[in-house]
Amino acid sequence: LRRLDREHMWYPWTPMDDWMANDQLVVERADGCWLIDPEGRRYLDGRSSMGMNLHGHGHPALVEALVAQARKAGETTLYRVSHPAAVELAARLANMAPPGLQRVFFAESGSTAVETALKAAYAYWVAKGEPERSTFVSMANGYHGETLGTISLRGVNNDQVDMIRKTYEPLLYPSLSFAQPDCYRCPVGMSSGGCELDCTDSLEEILVREKGKIAAVIVEPRVQALAGVITAPEGHLAKVAEIARRHGVLLIADEVLTGWGRTGTTFSCDAEGVTPDLLTVGKALTGGYLPLSATLATEEIFDAFRGGAFLSGSTYSGYALGAAVALASLDLYEKDDVLGRARALADVLTAELEPFRGLSHVGDVRQLGLIAGVELVADRENRTPFPPQDRVVERVCTLARDNGVLVNAVPGDVITMLPSPSMSHDDLRLLTGTLFRAIREVTGE
Ligand code: PMP
Repeated sequence: LRRLDREHMWYPWTPMDDWMANDQLVVERADGCWLIDPEGRRYLDGRSSMGMNLHGHGHPALVEALVAQARKAGETTLYRVSHPAAVELAARLANMAPPGLQRVFFAESGSTAVETALKAAYAYWVAKGEPERSTFVSMANGYHGETLGTISLRGVNNDQVDMIRKTYEPLLYPSLSFAQPDCYRCPVGMSSGGCELDCTDSLEEILVREKGKIAAVIVEPRVQALAGVITAPEGHLAKVAEIARRHGVLLIADEVLTGWGRTGTTFSCDAEGVTPDLLTVGKALTGGYLPLSATLATEEIFDAFRGGAFLSGSTYSGYALGAAVALASLDLYEKDDVLGRARALADVLTAELEPFRGLSHVGDVRQLGLIAGVELVADRENRTPFPPQDRVVERVCTLARDNGVLVNAVPGDVITMLPSPSMSHDDLRLLTGTLFRAIREVTGE
């Protein structure tokens, strides 16, 4: 298996050197929140794979839904044909989403759901007779996927240039970015306590300067996970929404990661009563069983899209197996009170993270619900990072893995945790305890 792996596999996101240097963990089976390798060793998954496993692995209701749909029919396409699972799911999503988002377009990944949102936003302006509104504004260091369209949205500010964006620059379309609400390194130099959300001024400036050219503002509502778990201060999302409205541009909420209770409300937008014009979901939509995503839009945007020569879609858009499992996952979401569970687990996580703040190489601990990040620094006083060649964060993750716990790392020396709401409180304590000890050991404390 290892030889074939070296000869044929091409892993996502994994730089070639890392992959060759590391022993990949091979997952053969899984049980709840535990992953099991071919030798029977068990690893507690502190990342829900990638924020998807809402109910853990092997849930009988999801397995049954998948098998039942497969027995009825596999994929029949949504091209000039319909099927019950997709229609029911569309209605269900429209019901759960912030008011007014009544139209549902299906795709298979978060990236392609965002792509559709971009096309739909542009279609809206074309229908309004303003085709020059073709620029999107995203948040600095925002993450919306890996297609060329979504890499284009990876807002870059002057001091933090995303290498991936830079590499593909000639293939991308121009977009603009506004300051991220990074309270640990406040972009407008506020110290704690003085925050009046002045970092949103940069959005306001763009919308004034580029009047008539902006199609939409796109945000990861209330937390930028892949940028280093940048948690926005309360009211930031509502203020961004208000600014977008006041300047007459559309708002796209990318809830691919934040959907289904991960931030403490079904959608992160709900917490601040924000209704975007377009909203994307993915990842946990099928509880991590199948790839399925959706773009939700207002009726006005849908009308614009269907009225023009706009098309979007793919062979498997809204496929029956995915839709059937998503319906079963949403049944469980309600029946098992996943939202309540997520909130209770998030409280345990908050308490568990407290001691991390006392470690001399932990610069900051950030958390929104079940999205948490621990930023390691060489020097706490000056918030300076470790030299990259020391690979401190990677060593911590590897040690935690060798001790049976999986966590991720994102650029900026941030160790991230995305536990499943289905994780037991004891398992969560095992996760944080193991990570705590790994940080101490690697940083020599
Ligand atoms: N948007 C956000 C906010 C995400 O976190 C991700 C994935 N991490 C995506 C979009 C892209 O989703 P996918 O990997 O399914 O294309």
